[in-house]
Amino acid sequence: MSLLIALRTINDEMRRKIKEISGQDISKCFQCGTCSASCPMEEHLQAPPRRIMTLIQFGQSEALDLLNTPWVCASCHNCMVRCPRGIDITRVMEAIRLLRLRQNINQVEPSNLQPEEVVDLPQIAMVSGFRKMTS
Ligand code: SF4
Ligand code: SF4
Repeated sequence: MSLLIALRTINDEMRRKIKEISGQDISKCFQCGTCSASCPMEEHLQAPPRRIMTLIQFGQSEALDLLNTPWVCASCHNCMVRCPRGIDITRVMEAIRLLRLRQNINQVEPSNLQPEEVVDLPQIAMVSGFRKMTS
């Protein structure tokens, strides 16, 4: 099997899994950018939601893995409410996170936190963050 065919197989699998987990048909996205314009976290994202949809459509899983967008997404549902194609982008972000965590790849490593840092962190936010970012 050539490298190109192998990569295509992996990327098709990523698309299939995101669709299966999120229940969303990403192929319906026509790149209007309404989701990006509606996102309150936009300035903190390495790529806006519209770009994330493009990467999924083109099966660019390697690029997707490098971006902070699914992890910074606050699950506020603004994008989902305004998407003219009715795509629940919040669920897509969740699916991307789950795919990563199922590989046992943590986004934060609790054991790396210093005790003096933990003391100053709001406990509920910290537990919530661990639930979202650790496998
Ligand atoms: S709002 Fe919907 S259709 Fe428009 S770019 Fe975002 S996901 Fe695609
Ligand atoms: S759910 Fe996430 S991506 Fe969508 S608008 Fe809110 S923060 Fe942005």
